[in-house]
Amino acid sequence: MKSYRKELWFQVPTRRAFVNITPQVEECLRESGITEGLVLVNAMHITASVFINDDESGLHHDYDVWLEKLAPHEPVSQYRHNVGEDNADAHMKRQVMGREVVVAVTDGRFDFGTWEQIFYGEFDGRRRKRVLVKIIGE
Ligand code: ZN
Repeated sequence: MKSYRKELWFQVPTRRAFVNITPQVEECLRESGITEGLVLVNAMHITASVFINDDESGLHHDYDVWLEKLAPHEPVSQYRHNVGEDNADAHMKRQVMGREVVVAVTDGRFDFGTWEQIFYGEFDGRRRKRVLVKIIGE
């Protein structure tokens, strides 16, 4: 069995953003040389997510509005976590959107369902953060 590991770095200029990272993860798959197996992609920070869904800007806007309703950023004083920091909402948004995804690799390609793409979800940006890509197989 082959094993491949890489960290991808992201720095988004805004507090919140969704980034399609499918091309970078596909590049990892090419580098790995693995054609049958599994890829794990996970955020390495507790205020960011990795998830799979549609690359459609209306949907991403809807996610942002929905997450702001669930866990509003303001007022920051409403959260006990916000002692010396202001990112309690980002921890909660990450919890809802998830930590990681696993995708099957078949014939050297990601075995996606229709319209599936891999996204990095940032909820406390403006600093460098990492995503782990781990691929196992043969
Ligand atoms: Zn925090």
